[in-house]
Amino acid sequence: MSIVRQVISARYDPALGSALSVFQRAPPVRLPSPATPPADFAPGSVTLVGAGPGDPGLLTLHALRALEAAEVVLHDRLVGEGVLALANPAALRIEVGKSASGRSTRQEDIHALMLRHARGGLRVVRLKGGDPFVFGRGGEELEFLRAHGIAYRVVPGVTAALACAAYAGIPLTHRDHAQSLRLVTAHCRDSLDTLDWAALAQERQTLAVYMGVAGLEQLRERLLAAGRDPATPFALVENGSRPEQRVVAGTLADLPETARAHAVASPALLILGEVAALAGQLHWFGAAPLGPPGPGLARAA
Ligand code: SAH
Repeated sequence: MSIVRQVISARYDPALGSALSVFQRAPPVRLPSPATPPADFAPGSVTLVGAGPGDPGLLTLHALRALEAAEVVLHDRLVGEGVLALANPAALRIEVGKSASGRSTRQEDIHALMLRHARGGLRVVRLKGGDPFVFGRGGEELEFLRAHGIAYRVVPGVTAALACAAYAGIPLTHRDHAQSLRLVTAHCRDSLDTLDWAALAQERQTLAVYMGVAGLEQLRERLLAAGRDPATPFALVENGSRPEQRVVAGTLADLPETARAHAVASPALLILGEVAALAGQLHWFGAAPLGPPGPGLARAA
């Protein structure tokens, strides 16, 4: 008799009833909680933590635990107050990255701060927006730590592409519309020149473009030149997952004009591909997508 059949017959065997009740009284399975860390956060080490896109509910349990144990938090400006509020209140908080004036903390200075505090025997959290390894320079920071003999761990975060898509009601892949997804950055001429536009222009794939708000004209020009259909839908998700989230939608043909008409500003993520049109039906968070200029804009206003 197979194991499965033995179990089934036991259910109906009064003689085994008491044995079954022993199983029923077994303590419930315990889910990992922030109070039971999977690994120690050693003094003098650095934990690279992905803070997600803004909604603190998207932090992982490991991220929360690391924030609670941190003695120093070096955070990017993009990391929201709601996430920072979860850090150990006694921790020293240092903002690095781009300031309101647009000036950046130099990467060498961030490295030096991590090193100084780790060598001082403190538990350092390096907190980055989204995921540390997606356009986050996390690799460079680990290379530096390794070269200086500092122990580290990495806690992944929900990257902007996943969060913005989810909070805009856009499935990044869909059996009917897209079988692949590309994460791309297009923030300067150099990065535009190094991209493979023929590959990016392929149909039935979704592009998630980071840091692209300033380069939308060039992005359209290059995609159209490489053969992408001007009717390809897009959605720009500004402040994804935050209370002030806005979604602006249209087609590749009107992308820069639509973004300008709504004054879309950073942080915003561009999702381009057939799936972007689904935001119109599937949106659930915040307002419905705003449309292109003209009658669409009037309707949205
Ligand atoms: N490591 C981050 C990306 C850093 S690059 C991550 O994994 O998400 C910064 C870019 O990310 C922004 O210019 C924007 O394109 C995108 N981004 C980050 N947070 C965002 C948010 N809440 N809403 C929309 N775009 C966001």
